[in-house]
Amino acid sequence: MDIHSANECTRCALSQTRTTVVVGSGPLHAALIVIGEAPGKSEDEGGAPFIGRSGQLLFSLINEELKMNREDCYVTNVVKCRPPDNRTPLAPEIAACAPWLEAQRALWSGQVVLTLGLTAARVMTGSKAPMKDLHGIPVVRHNLTFVPTYHPAAALRQGPSVVAVMRADLAVVRGLLS
Ligand code: SF4
Repeated sequence: MDIHSANECTRCALSQTRTTVVVGSGPLHAALIVIGEAPGKSEDEGGAPFIGRSGQLLFSLINEELKMNREDCYVTNVVKCRPPDNRTPLAPEIAACAPWLEAQRALWSGQVVLTLGLTAARVMTGSKAPMKDLHGIPVVRHNLTFVPTYHPAAALRQGPSVVAVMRADLAVVRGLLS
C-alpha cells in the first residue's frame, strides 16, 4: 500500500468522525521511531502526531534523556484517525489500520522503536502482558527492537512516579541507540 493514499482512507468507521488522517511525521531514516495509540483532539485538528500536552511532555523527556528533538524521530500511531472521545481503538480498527503501519515499517531505516501506552506495546510486541511487565524490556520483532513505556498522557494524569519510569525506559533506549 502506498502510504500517501492513507490520507483518503475509509477502511474503518473512524473515517466517519475524524477531521484529519494523522499519518506520521519526521524523517523516515530516523534512528528512533515513536509509536503511540491514536491521535487525540489536538492531533486530529492539527494533522500531526503528539502536538498537544502529551507531546510536549514526551519530547521534553526525549530531549533530556536522549538529546534528540522531535525532528530527529519518526512519530506515528497504531491507528491514524482519532477515536471518538479519545476511547481506546477497537480491535477491528487496529486490524484495519495495520497495513498502513506495515507500509511505514517498510520505509524506516531505524531499528529502535519506543512504544507509548498499553495498546501500542501489545500491538507491536504481540504480548498480552500488563504494562508493569512490559515497560523497559526490549522485544525484537520484525527486525526491529521495541521498547515499551507508558503513554505521556498517563504521566500527565498520574505525575512524577510515571515520569520517573519513563525516564528509566528511555535510558534503555539510549543504550540501544549508542
Ligand atoms: S484509522 Fe486507519 S484504517 Fe481507519 S480510517 Fe483511519 S487510516 Fe483508515
